[in-house]
Amino acid sequence: MAQIVIRNLRKEFGDFVAVRESDFTIEDGEFFMLLGPSGCGKTTTLRMIAGLELPTSGQILLDGKDVAQVPASARDIAFVFQMFALYPHMNVRRNISYPLVSQGMPRAEVRRRVGEVAGILGIEDILDRPVGGLSSGDRQRVALGRAIVREPKAFLMDEPLGALDAEFRERMAEELRALHDRMGATTVYVTHDQLEAMQMGDKIVVMNRGVVEQWGTPQDIYDFPATMFVADFIGSPPMNFLRFDERVALGARAVRLSGVEVPVPQVLEATSGARAALGVRPEHVRLNDDGAYRGEVVAVEYLGTTQIVTLDTPNGDLKARIASSDVVKVGERVGLSFVTQTLSLFDAETGRALA
Ligand code: ATP
Repeated sequence: MAQIVIRNLRKEFGDFVAVRESDFTIEDGEFFMLLGPSGCGKTTTLRMIAGLELPTSGQILLDGKDVAQVPASARDIAFVFQMFALYPHMNVRRNISYPLVSQGMPRAEVRRRVGEVAGILGIEDILDRPVGGLSSGDRQRVALGRAIVREPKAFLMDEPLGALDAEFRERMAEELRALHDRMGATTVYVTHDQLEAMQMGDKIVVMNRGVVEQWGTPQDIYDFPATMFVADFIGSPPMNFLRFDERVALGARAVRLSGVEVPVPQVLEATSGARAALGVRPEHVRLNDDGAYRGEVVAVEYLGTTQIVTLDTPNGDLKARIASSDVVKVGERVGLSFVTQTLSLFDAETGRALA
């Protein structure tokens, strides 16, 4: 098991900076997600942790020792490449034992370890079957078995469920998480799917254009986004931004949205006249008859237990998630209020959270 500390890590490919001065800490035993859109530097970061790519500068501390320049083979970390990359002509037992046999491990020890791994994964009864005829779920378990059997300090996975259809993907995600909870091994997992990151991760680092925007627990990142990028990337529908020009007053606990005072949870710093944006999650918008701040319903999307209402407000479009039993009609003008404690405020120019 291992703690992995990423410190000031940077990677250049020629003139292009793929990862900029990144800092985050993966604690021993955590299921840690690297999340962000395509091209943001997730895979490059994971490959640097694995030792498959050398950083331009910065440190990777594995249990306190800087391994940034140590070759992959000496790091004792297992990269679970492609779940389906098995040796088709070998049976399950040989596929799993292959990494140990090629290390020259004694046969009795190999047998013991393979038995143990098969028990963890629940595949004891297929050990002598050829992998060719296995279901995709079992093939995936065998591929995992081959990584687990080495008993590495940490597992690295790059979109391992990316190629699967939605239903199977969800089942394998649950299995992977349960497996992690049984074994407790540090796992670093790359995904561009915010829902997968929220559901599976103990912690998440959100990256954008090579920059770490924020890292923390799923709850922290959802409730207290550090930037507008994070607020927009996490959540479905994402956080609303109501933009306004009025200067945010120092010491105030309210902002003025088109003349209407809206209370906010924090004492604000002055933003020297910069444009600001009020961040509101759709589930924190309340529709009421008497609110002074008003909007017009332009669309209603029924989702079963809830519905998403799109409103046209003086400060831009706003989506609200309300109970499906509430009645709203397109064209109606309604009063709007917000759950004060949940609001975020951003400097709309830098995108950074205020206060
Ligand atoms: P994806 O999900 O699409 O793989 P990612 O977040 O994992 O995205 P990376 O694969 O880390 O992104 O790539 C980050 C950037 O670095 C991309 O713009 C990519 O084109 C570039 N890049 C990656 N590897 C190399 C390389 N060997 N040489 C030059 N550029 C590279």
